[in-house]
Amino acid sequence: MSEGDAVQLLRERGLQVTAQRLAVLRAVSQRPHGTAEDIETVARAEIGAISRQAVYDALGALTDRAIIRRIQPAHSPARYEDRVGDNHHHLVCRRCGQMVDVDCAVGDTPCLTASDDAGYEIDEAEVVYWGRCPACAGEP
Ligand SMILES: [Zn+2]
Ligand SMILES: [Zn+2]
Repeated sequence: MSEGDAVQLLRERGLQVTAQRLAVLRAVSQRPHGTAEDIETVARAEIGAISRQAVYDALGALTDRAIIRRIQPAHSPARYEDRVGDNHHHLVCRRCGQMVDVDCAVGDTPCLTASDDAGYEIDEAEVVYWGRCPACAGEP
């Protein structure tokens, strides 16, 4: 994501543009599925000093405006990504925690059609596929 795109996105969503929010947003786009700690490392490399609190604040503001998406797999720290709004799913390696995107099984979003929606208007289905990544598959 270029700096110009990031600035525009923040403005479109009504967020004040700050160097810290820009750095955090660009870090998320560079490091999809990164933890807050990963994002902090990338953002710090880009703008120098940024406190952990500032990283968390920026992640919170960006998540609230749906500019980024927060994913919280069981027993794992929260991860962040800038691929939003398409209801894609994730594959998570139980051994090393590596996470990758996986599109909906049939190209459409059949998982949004619950067998009984109980009258709810459904807009997201959280599907996490757990297993082992190729690098971990042969390991004990
Ligand atoms: Zn693995
Ligand atoms: Zn993803």
